[in-house]
Amino acid sequence: MIEINSDDFAFLRDQIMYDNSKRGLYPDEWGEVAISVDSRYNAHHYGDMKKLGLSATHAVTAAVDCLTGKIIECVVENKMCLSGSRQRQHNPGVVCGRNANHTGCTASISPYDNILEGEMNKKLCEKLLDHGLFPAVVTSDNDGQAAKPYQAVVTQRMPGGIVRAQSDPSHLGNSQVRAITKYNFKKETFRCTKFKTVDVLKKLLSRDIKYMSTMILDKCVIRDSAAVVEAAIQCLGGDHTSCLKMKPGHCDGTEDSNWMLSSSLHKAAGVHALEFTESEKEKMRGVFNIRLHDRARDSTALGYHTQQNEAFHRMLSKNSPKNITFARNHHGRVCSTIFRFNHGHSQSIEKKLRAAGCPLYAGGLQTLHTQSIKIGKLKAYQKTDMCKRRRAAARMRSNQHWYRSKFIQHAEHDYIKGQQDPFKLTN
Ligand SMILES: [Zn+2]
Ligand SMILES: [Zn+2]
Repeated sequence: MIEINSDDFAFLRDQIMYDNSKRGLYPDEWGEVAISVDSRYNAHHYGDMKKLGLSATHAVTAAVDCLTGKIIECVVENKMCLSGSRQRQHNPGVVCGRNANHTGCTASISPYDNILEGEMNKKLCEKLLDHGLFPAVVTSDNDGQAAKPYQAVVTQRMPGGIVRAQSDPSHLGNSQVRAITKYNFKKETFRCTKFKTVDVLKKLLSRDIKYMSTMILDKCVIRDSAAVVEAAIQCLGGDHTSCLKMKPGHCDGTEDSNWMLSSSLHKAAGVHALEFTESEKEKMRGVFNIRLHDRARDSTALGYHTQQNEAFHRMLSKNSPKNITFARNHHGRVCSTIFRFNHGHSQSIEKKLRAAGCPLYAGGLQTLHTQSIKIGKLKAYQKTDMCKRRRAAARMRSNQHWYRSKFIQHAEHDYIKGQQDPFKLTN
Protein backbone atom coordinates (compact mmCIF):
# COMPACT_ATOMS: atom_id res chain seq x y z
CA MET A 1 0.00 0.00 0.00
CA ILE A 2 2.86 2.37 0.86
CA GLU A 3 4.48 1.65 -2.52
CA ILE A 4 1.25 2.24 -4.46
CA ASN A 5 0.80 5.51 -2.62
CA SER A 6 4.35 6.76 -3.24
CA ASP A 7 3.91 6.03 -6.98
CA ASP A 8 0.69 8.02 -6.82
CA PHE A 9 2.48 10.92 -5.10
CA ALA A 10 5.07 10.95 -7.92
CA PHE A 11 2.25 11.12 -10.50
CA LEU A 12 0.60 14.04 -8.66
CA ARG A 13 3.95 15.87 -8.45
CA ASP A 14 4.45 15.50 -12.20
CA GLN A 15 0.97 16.86 -12.76
CA ILE A 16 1.69 19.94 -10.58
CA MET A 17 4.91 20.56 -12.54
CA TYR A 18 3.02 20.23 -15.83
CA ASP A 19 0.25 22.60 -14.69
CA ASN A 20 2.78 25.20 -13.54
CA SER A 21 4.63 24.99 -16.87
CA LYS A 22 1.33 25.57 -18.72
CA ARG A 23 0.64 28.61 -16.51
CA GLY A 24 3.65 30.34 -18.06
CA LEU A 25 6.05 30.25 -15.11
CA TYR A 26 9.82 30.12 -15.51
CA PRO A 27 11.33 26.60 -15.37
CA ASP A 28 12.84 27.24 -11.92
CA GLU A 29 9.36 28.08 -10.58
CA TRP A 30 7.61 24.94 -11.82
CA GLY A 31 7.91 23.21 -8.46
CA GLU A 32 6.19 26.01 -6.51
CA VAL A 33 3.15 24.77 -4.62
CA ALA A 34 0.72 26.15 -2.03
CA ILE A 35 0.06 23.61 0.72
CA SER A 36 -2.04 23.39 3.86
CA VAL A 37 -0.69 21.28 6.72
CA ASP A 38 -2.17 19.87 9.89
CA SER A 39 -1.22 17.06 12.28
CA ARG A 40 -3.39 14.37 13.79
CA TYR A 41 -2.48 12.45 16.96
CA ASN A 42 -4.22 9.42 18.38
CA ALA A 43 -4.36 10.95 21.88
CA HIS A 44 -7.76 10.57 23.58
CA HIS A 45 -7.55 13.72 25.65
CA TYR A 46 -5.24 16.55 24.75
CA GLY A 47 -5.81 19.11 27.46
CA ASP A 48 -6.13 16.93 30.54
CA MET A 49 -4.82 18.42 33.80
CA LYS A 50 -4.24 14.98 35.32
CA LYS A 51 -1.65 13.77 32.86
CA LEU A 52 1.83 15.13 32.41
CA GLY A 53 2.21 15.02 28.63
CA LEU A 54 0.69 14.04 25.34
CA SER A 55 -0.36 10.37 25.39
CA ALA A 56 -0.16 9.76 21.64
CA THR A 57 1.55 6.78 20.05
CA HIS A 58 0.93 7.64 16.39
CA ALA A 59 0.92 10.97 14.56
CA VAL A 60 0.29 11.91 10.94
CA THR A 61 1.07 15.18 9.18
CA ALA A 62 -0.36 15.54 5.68
CA ALA A 63 0.27 18.28 3.12
CA VAL A 64 -2.71 19.11 0.90
CA ASP A 65 -2.23 20.97 -2.37
CA CYS A 66 -4.53 23.99 -1.99
CA LEU A 67 -5.40 24.22 -5.69
CA THR A 68 -6.38 20.60 -6.41
CA GLY A 69 -7.34 19.57 -2.85
CA LYS A 70 -5.27 16.38 -3.01
CA ILE A 71 -2.70 15.11 -0.54
CA ILE A 72 0.77 15.30 -2.08
CA GLU A 73 3.00 14.25 0.83
CA CYS A 74 2.72 12.85 4.33
CA VAL A 75 4.89 12.08 7.34
CA VAL A 76 3.96 9.29 9.74
CA GLU A 77 5.45 8.90 13.23
CA ASN A 78 4.95 5.61 15.04
CA LYS A 79 6.15 4.74 18.55
CA MET A 80 4.78 1.18 18.54
CA CYS A 81 6.89 -1.88 17.77
CA LEU A 82 5.43 -5.27 18.64
CA SER A 83 8.54 -7.40 18.17
CA GLY A 84 10.74 -4.86 19.98
CA SER A 85 8.49 -4.75 23.03
CA ARG A 86 8.35 -8.59 23.17
CA GLN A 87 12.11 -8.93 22.92
CA ARG A 88 12.59 -6.23 25.58
CA GLN A 89 10.89 -8.48 28.16
CA HIS A 90 13.87 -10.84 27.97
CA ASN A 91 16.59 -8.36 27.04
CA PRO A 92 16.25 -4.78 28.31
CA GLY A 93 18.95 -3.60 25.88
CA VAL A 94 16.72 -3.81 22.81
CA VAL A 95 16.29 -0.33 21.27
CA CYS A 96 13.48 0.75 18.93
CA GLY A 97 13.13 3.77 16.72
CA ARG A 98 15.93 5.56 14.90
CA ASN A 99 18.87 3.56 16.30
CA ALA A 100 17.00 0.25 16.35
CA ASN A 101 19.23 -2.78 17.09
CA HIS A 102 16.77 -5.51 16.09
CA THR A 103 15.43 -6.58 12.71
CA GLY A 104 12.03 -5.56 11.39
CA CYS A 105 11.46 -2.54 13.63
CA THR A 106 8.19 -0.76 12.85
CA ALA A 107 8.75 2.25 15.11
CA SER A 108 10.06 5.49 13.65
CA ILE A 109 10.94 7.12 16.99
CA SER A 110 11.80 5.77 20.43
CA PRO A 111 8.84 5.13 22.76
CA TYR A 112 10.31 7.64 25.23
CA ASP A 113 10.70 10.49 22.70
CA ASN A 114 8.19 13.29 22.25
CA ILE A 115 6.21 13.57 19.03
CA LEU A 116 6.94 17.13 17.94
CA GLU A 117 4.87 18.86 15.27
CA GLY A 118 7.81 21.08 14.29
CA GLU A 119 10.07 18.08 13.63
CA MET A 120 7.37 16.43 11.50
CA ASN A 121 6.96 19.61 9.47
CA LYS A 122 10.72 19.76 8.93
CA LYS A 123 10.70 16.18 7.65
CA LEU A 124 7.79 16.99 5.35
CA CYS A 125 9.63 20.00 3.93
CA GLU A 126 12.79 17.90 3.35
CA LYS A 127 10.69 15.34 1.47
CA LEU A 128 9.07 18.01 -0.72
CA LEU A 129 12.42 19.63 -1.55
CA ASP A 130 13.97 16.23 -2.33
CA HIS A 131 11.25 15.65 -4.93
CA GLY A 132 11.70 19.07 -6.54
CA LEU A 133 8.70 20.84 -5.01
CA PHE A 134 9.02 24.18 -3.20
CA PRO A 135 6.45 25.09 -0.49
CA ALA A 136 5.87 28.74 -1.46
CA VAL A 137 2.74 29.18 0.70
CA VAL A 138 2.04 27.21 3.89
CA THR A 139 -1.42 27.39 5.48
CA SER A 140 -1.83 26.14 9.04
CA ASP A 141 -4.24 26.18 11.98
CA ASN A 142 -2.37 28.41 14.35
CA ASP A 143 -1.05 31.91 13.75
CA GLY A 144 1.50 31.03 11.08
CA GLN A 145 3.62 29.05 13.56
CA ALA A 146 3.72 25.92 11.39
CA ALA A 147 5.48 27.84 8.58
CA LYS A 148 8.58 28.48 10.72
CA PRO A 149 10.11 24.98 10.35
CA TYR A 150 9.60 25.22 6.58
CA GLN A 151 11.37 28.60 6.49
CA ALA A 152 14.23 27.13 8.54
CA VAL A 153 14.73 24.19 6.16
CA VAL A 154 14.38 26.35 3.04
CA THR A 155 16.91 28.91 4.32
CA GLN A 156 19.35 26.07 5.01
CA ARG A 157 18.99 24.38 1.63
CA MET A 158 18.05 27.22 -0.73
CA PRO A 159 19.36 30.58 0.60
CA GLY A 160 17.04 33.45 -0.29
CA GLY A 161 13.88 31.31 -0.54
CA ILE A 162 10.85 32.77 1.24
CA VAL A 163 7.90 30.76 2.57
CA ARG A 164 4.69 32.76 2.97
CA ALA A 165 2.70 31.86 6.10
CA GLN A 166 -1.09 31.81 6.00
CA SER A 167 -3.63 30.89 8.67
CA ASP A 168 -7.08 29.36 8.62
CA PRO A 169 -9.86 31.98 9.04
CA SER A 170 -12.29 29.73 10.92
CA HIS A 171 -9.62 28.84 13.48
CA LEU A 172 -8.99 32.57 14.03
CA GLY A 173 -12.74 32.99 14.63
CA ASN A 174 -12.62 30.18 17.17
CA SER A 175 -9.77 31.86 19.03
CA GLN A 176 -11.91 35.04 19.22
CA VAL A 177 -14.69 33.00 20.85
CA ARG A 178 -12.21 31.41 23.25
CA ALA A 179 -10.71 34.80 24.23
CA ILE A 180 -14.14 36.19 25.16
CA THR A 181 -15.20 33.05 27.04
CA LYS A 182 -12.05 33.19 29.20
CA TYR A 183 -12.38 36.88 30.15
CA ASN A 184 -14.32 37.96 33.23
CA PHE A 185 -16.91 40.49 32.07
CA LYS A 186 -18.88 42.41 34.69
CA LYS A 187 -22.60 41.79 35.03
CA GLU A 188 -23.27 45.54 34.78
CA THR A 189 -21.71 45.66 31.31
CA PHE A 190 -24.67 43.90 29.74
CA ARG A 191 -27.51 45.52 31.75
CA CYS A 192 -29.58 42.42 31.13
CA THR A 193 -32.58 41.46 33.24
CA LYS A 194 -33.51 38.28 31.40
CA PHE A 195 -30.50 36.07 32.18
CA LYS A 196 -29.01 36.15 35.66
CA THR A 197 -25.52 34.79 34.90
CA VAL A 198 -22.89 36.29 32.62
CA ASP A 199 -21.96 32.94 31.00
CA VAL A 200 -24.92 32.92 28.59
CA LEU A 201 -24.36 36.57 27.67
CA LYS A 202 -20.66 35.96 27.08
CA LYS A 203 -21.51 33.12 24.72
CA LEU A 204 -23.92 35.33 22.78
CA LEU A 205 -21.37 38.16 22.65
CA SER A 206 -18.62 35.86 21.36
CA ARG A 207 -20.84 34.64 18.48
CA ASP A 208 -21.74 38.26 17.71
CA ILE A 209 -18.09 39.31 17.51
CA LYS A 210 -17.26 36.36 15.25
CA TYR A 211 -20.06 37.13 12.76
CA MET A 212 -19.35 40.87 12.96
CA SER A 213 -15.67 40.37 12.04
CA THR A 214 -16.61 38.13 9.10
CA MET A 215 -19.11 40.70 7.80
CA ILE A 216 -16.60 43.55 8.11
CA LEU A 217 -13.98 41.52 6.23
CA ASP A 218 -16.47 40.56 3.52
CA LYS A 219 -18.11 43.91 2.84
CA CYS A 220 -15.71 46.67 3.89
CA VAL A 221 -12.50 47.95 2.34
CA ILE A 222 -10.33 48.49 5.41
CA ARG A 223 -7.86 51.37 5.17
CA ASP A 224 -7.27 51.98 8.87
CA SER A 225 -7.90 48.88 10.97
CA ALA A 226 -7.62 50.72 14.32
CA ALA A 227 -10.45 53.12 13.31
CA VAL A 228 -12.65 50.22 12.20
CA VAL A 229 -12.10 48.43 15.52
CA GLU A 230 -12.96 51.62 17.47
CA ALA A 231 -16.12 52.04 15.39
CA ALA A 232 -17.13 48.42 16.06
CA ILE A 233 -16.68 48.85 19.84
CA GLN A 234 -18.71 52.09 19.73
CA CYS A 235 -21.37 50.23 17.74
CA LEU A 236 -21.63 47.59 20.49
CA GLY A 237 -22.00 50.47 22.96
CA GLY A 238 -25.05 51.75 21.06
CA ASP A 239 -23.32 54.75 19.39
CA HIS A 240 -23.69 54.34 15.63
CA THR A 241 -22.31 57.71 14.41
CA SER A 242 -19.06 56.10 13.16
CA CYS A 243 -21.08 53.35 11.47
CA LEU A 244 -23.00 55.98 9.46
CA LYS A 245 -19.76 57.63 8.40
CA MET A 246 -17.63 54.56 7.63
CA LYS A 247 -20.18 51.99 6.37
CA PRO A 248 -18.31 49.00 7.87
CA GLY A 249 -20.66 46.43 6.33
CA HIS A 250 -22.33 44.95 9.41
CA CYS A 251 -24.29 48.03 10.52
CA ASP A 252 -26.30 50.69 8.66
CA GLY A 253 -26.12 53.08 11.60
CA THR A 254 -29.72 54.29 11.45
CA GLU A 255 -32.31 54.15 14.23
CA ASP A 256 -34.40 51.46 12.51
CA SER A 257 -31.65 49.28 11.16
CA ASN A 258 -28.41 48.78 13.05
CA TRP A 259 -26.33 45.91 14.36
CA MET A 260 -27.65 45.96 17.91
CA LEU A 261 -31.23 45.46 16.68
CA SER A 262 -30.40 42.40 14.60
CA SER A 263 -27.81 40.77 16.86
CA SER A 264 -28.54 37.68 18.92
CA LEU A 265 -27.70 39.66 22.07
CA HIS A 266 -30.74 41.85 21.39
CA LYS A 267 -33.05 39.12 20.15
CA ALA A 268 -32.37 36.53 22.84
CA ALA A 269 -31.41 38.63 25.84
CA GLY A 270 -32.97 42.03 25.13
CA VAL A 271 -29.66 43.92 25.34
CA HIS A 272 -29.64 47.25 23.45
CA ALA A 273 -26.17 48.55 24.29
CA LEU A 274 -23.12 47.38 26.22
CA GLU A 275 -21.32 49.58 28.76
CA PHE A 276 -17.69 48.54 28.62
CA THR A 277 -15.20 49.56 31.29
CA GLU A 278 -11.74 50.71 30.14
CA SER A 279 -10.09 47.32 30.73
CA GLU A 280 -12.92 45.55 28.91
CA LYS A 281 -12.52 47.93 25.95
CA GLU A 282 -8.82 47.09 25.83
CA LYS A 283 -9.73 43.38 25.79
CA MET A 284 -12.28 43.89 23.02
CA ARG A 285 -9.66 45.70 20.91
CA GLY A 286 -7.41 42.65 21.27
CA VAL A 287 -10.25 40.30 20.32
CA PHE A 288 -11.13 42.26 17.17
CA ASN A 289 -7.46 42.52 16.22
CA ILE A 290 -7.22 38.71 16.06
CA ARG A 291 -8.97 39.01 12.68
CA LEU A 292 -8.96 42.67 11.66
CA HIS A 293 -5.35 43.67 12.38
CA ASP A 294 -3.14 44.27 9.32
CA ARG A 295 -1.04 41.20 10.15
CA ALA A 296 -4.11 38.98 10.55
CA ARG A 297 -5.63 40.23 7.29
CA ASP A 298 -2.37 39.60 5.50
CA SER A 299 -2.32 36.04 6.85
CA THR A 300 -5.77 35.27 5.38
CA ALA A 301 -5.38 37.33 2.19
CA LEU A 302 -5.00 34.39 -0.20
CA GLY A 303 -8.17 32.71 1.05
CA TYR A 304 -6.67 29.27 1.71
CA HIS A 305 -8.04 27.08 4.49
CA THR A 306 -7.34 23.77 6.22
CA GLN A 307 -10.79 22.22 5.72
CA GLN A 308 -9.37 19.49 3.48
CA ASN A 309 -6.98 18.45 6.26
CA GLU A 310 -9.84 18.20 8.73
CA ALA A 311 -11.78 16.10 6.23
CA PHE A 312 -8.79 13.76 5.91
CA HIS A 313 -8.58 13.43 9.70
CA ARG A 314 -12.24 12.47 9.91
CA MET A 315 -11.68 9.91 7.16
CA LEU A 316 -8.65 8.53 9.00
CA SER A 317 -10.75 7.88 12.10
CA LYS A 318 -12.43 5.06 10.18
CA ASN A 319 -9.24 3.27 9.09
CA SER A 320 -7.27 3.99 12.23
CA PRO A 321 -9.53 4.59 15.25
CA LYS A 322 -7.95 6.47 18.14
CA ASN A 323 -8.73 3.87 20.80
CA ILE A 324 -6.87 1.05 19.01
CA THR A 325 -3.09 1.08 18.62
CA PHE A 326 -1.93 -0.49 15.38
CA ALA A 327 1.61 -1.52 16.12
CA ARG A 328 2.53 -2.95 12.74
CA ASN A 329 0.34 -1.67 9.93
CA HIS A 330 -0.38 1.92 10.92
CA HIS A 331 1.58 3.43 8.03
CA GLY A 332 -0.25 1.20 5.55
CA ARG A 333 -3.62 2.22 6.97
CA VAL A 334 -2.71 5.91 6.65
CA CYS A 335 -1.60 5.37 3.03
CA SER A 336 -4.83 3.53 2.26
CA THR A 337 -6.85 6.47 3.59
CA ILE A 338 -4.79 8.96 1.57
CA PHE A 339 -5.39 6.88 -1.57
CA ARG A 340 -9.13 6.85 -0.94
CA PHE A 341 -9.06 10.60 -0.21
CA ASN A 342 -7.28 11.37 -3.49
CA HIS A 343 -9.20 9.04 -5.82
CA GLY A 344 -12.63 8.59 -4.31
CA HIS A 345 -14.34 5.45 -3.06
CA SER A 346 -14.76 3.32 -6.18
CA GLN A 347 -11.68 4.30 -8.16
CA SER A 348 -9.39 3.62 -5.19
CA ILE A 349 -10.81 0.09 -4.77
CA GLU A 350 -10.33 -0.66 -8.46
CA LYS A 351 -6.76 0.68 -8.53
CA LYS A 352 -5.77 -1.10 -5.31
CA LEU A 353 -7.04 -4.45 -6.58
CA ARG A 354 -5.28 -4.01 -9.92
CA ALA A 355 -2.02 -3.20 -8.13
CA ALA A 356 -2.45 -6.28 -5.92
CA GLY A 357 -2.68 -8.46 -9.05
CA CYS A 358 -6.39 -9.35 -9.01
CA PRO A 359 -8.20 -6.88 -11.29
CA LEU A 360 -12.00 -6.73 -11.14
CA TYR A 361 -14.17 -8.37 -13.82
CA ALA A 362 -16.88 -6.48 -15.72
CA GLY A 363 -19.70 -7.07 -13.21
CA GLY A 364 -17.65 -5.81 -10.26
CA LEU A 365 -16.62 -2.74 -12.20
CA GLN A 366 -20.25 -2.07 -13.05
CA THR A 367 -21.25 -2.27 -9.35
CA LEU A 368 -18.47 0.15 -8.38
CA HIS A 369 -19.54 2.52 -11.14
CA THR A 370 -23.17 2.53 -9.92
CA GLN A 371 -21.96 3.15 -6.37
CA SER A 372 -19.85 6.12 -7.42
CA ILE A 373 -22.80 7.62 -9.33
CA LYS A 374 -24.99 7.23 -6.21
CA ILE A 375 -22.37 8.94 -4.03
CA GLY A 376 -22.06 11.79 -6.53
CA LYS A 377 -25.84 12.27 -6.63
CA LEU A 378 -26.02 12.34 -2.81
CA LYS A 379 -23.26 14.96 -2.64
CA ALA A 380 -24.97 17.11 -5.28
CA TYR A 381 -28.30 16.80 -3.40
CA GLN A 382 -26.72 17.99 -0.15
CA LYS A 383 -25.47 21.12 -1.90
CA THR A 384 -28.94 22.15 -3.11
CA ASP A 385 -30.65 25.24 -1.68
CA MET A 386 -33.35 23.14 -0.07
CA CYS A 387 -30.85 21.15 1.99
CA LYS A 388 -28.98 24.31 2.96
CA ARG A 389 -32.22 25.92 4.17
CA ARG A 390 -33.13 22.79 6.10
CA ARG A 391 -29.75 22.76 7.84
CA ALA A 392 -30.06 26.47 8.70
CA ALA A 393 -33.53 25.89 10.14
CA ALA A 394 -32.26 22.99 12.24
CA ARG A 395 -29.45 25.18 13.57
CA MET A 396 -31.90 27.94 14.45
CA ARG A 397 -34.22 25.48 16.19
CA SER A 398 -31.38 24.12 18.31
CA ASN A 399 -30.33 27.69 19.20
CA GLN A 400 -33.85 28.54 20.32
CA HIS A 401 -33.96 25.36 22.36
CA TRP A 402 -30.71 26.37 24.01
CA TYR A 403 -31.98 29.90 24.86
CA ARG A 404 -35.15 28.44 26.30
CA SER A 405 -33.29 25.89 28.42
CA LYS A 406 -30.98 28.59 29.77
CA PHE A 407 -33.92 30.87 30.47
CA ILE A 408 -35.91 28.22 32.31
CA GLN A 409 -32.86 27.20 34.31
CA HIS A 410 -32.44 30.69 35.73
CA ALA A 411 -36.09 31.62 36.06
CA GLU A 412 -37.65 31.48 39.51
CA HIS A 413 -40.05 28.58 39.79
CA ASP A 414 -41.82 26.59 42.47
CA TYR A 415 -39.75 23.44 42.41
CA ILE A 416 -37.61 22.81 45.50
CA LYS A 417 -34.82 20.24 45.54
CA GLY A 418 -36.04 16.91 46.85
CA GLN A 419 -39.69 17.69 46.22
CA GLN A 420 -41.75 14.72 45.06
CA ASP A 421 -43.47 14.82 41.68
CA PRO A 422 -47.24 14.89 41.99
CA PHE A 423 -48.82 11.58 41.02
CA LYS A 424 -52.38 10.30 40.58
CA LEU A 425 -53.75 7.18 42.19
CA THR A 426 -55.49 4.91 39.75
CA ASN A 427 -57.97 2.14 40.48
ZN1 LIG B 1 11.43 -2.07 17.22
ZN1 LIG C 1 -23.44 50.48 14.39
